[in-house]
Amino acid sequence: MIRELEVFAKHGVLPEENTLGQKFLVSAELYTDFSEAAGKDDLNLSVDYSAVCSLICKFMQENTFRLIETAAQRLAGLLLEEFPLISGLVIEVKKPWAPIGLHVQDVAVKTERSWHRAYIGLGSNIGDVKWYLDTAVRELDKLEGCHVEKVSDFIVTKPYGNVGQDDFLNGVLLLRTYLDPFTLLDRLHDIENMAGRKRLIHWGPRTLDLDILLYDSLIIDSEKLTIPHADMHNRSFVLAPLTKIAPTVRHPVLNKTAAQLLREL
Ligand code: ADP
Ligand code: MG
Repeated sequence: MIRELEVFAKHGVLPEENTLGQKFLVSAELYTDFSEAAGKDDLNLSVDYSAVCSLICKFMQENTFRLIETAAQRLAGLLLEEFPLISGLVIEVKKPWAPIGLHVQDVAVKTERSWHRAYIGLGSNIGDVKWYLDTAVRELDKLEGCHVEKVSDFIVTKPYGNVGQDDFLNGVLLLRTYLDPFTLLDRLHDIENMAGRKRLIHWGPRTLDLDILLYDSLIIDSEKLTIPHADMHNRSFVLAPLTKIAPTVRHPVLNKTAAQLLREL
């Protein structure tokens, strides 16, 4: 826990704030397993809070954001990337001198970010299908807050639902990400759109289809997003590559592993 690190910086929506600057107080609650560091009394096995404080100061002073929301969220991402031992964190940015013409103790925002594991299904059946999947893997790895950790072999499959189209190439990858599921879905759509996908026919031909299969053991059932993916347990072209890279990963609704689901299908 780092409490109220004081930084003089220039964030704010008013032009005066960007030139004159003011005081900010940054707090960081860091989640890390320090049992080994504690046992061996070794700083190298824990998070060096002096280094964290220096990076917070540098980040707050070298950037100018209009919103403390932006400052807090970007800072949270930066700390997760720079300190691999931090599995999650809560960042609070306080602005005690907020120029609102009223007396308040401070105004503040808080944001929580942590690393998650998401399994993504990839599919393509138009054009150079291998190139589309390879490009998707590269683009996913380039996304802010995303690292591709494992990629299955790609398999050729017969089209599902709609006949009279070319074979698909399918695969699954494991993504380590600090993006929330809805933001991740938006980024997947960006990559699909970049690949020129047209949503004309449901289950129709597509240059690139990216689906969130699993996201930790989270369950979401909303209009825009269903996790686990609603049809994954019925699709061998999903379960086979998933089982290759994560046989023991568990479907949180059916409470069965990928390998089990594949066997039963
Ligand atoms: P499918 O992937 O089932 O063949 P689409 O790719 O055309 O179909 O998906 C259409 C919509 O499904 C997307 O716009 C998205 O909002 C919604 N959707 C719901 N759950 C998911 C998920 N887990 N992953 C990806 N898209 C999803
Ligand atoms: Mg899809």
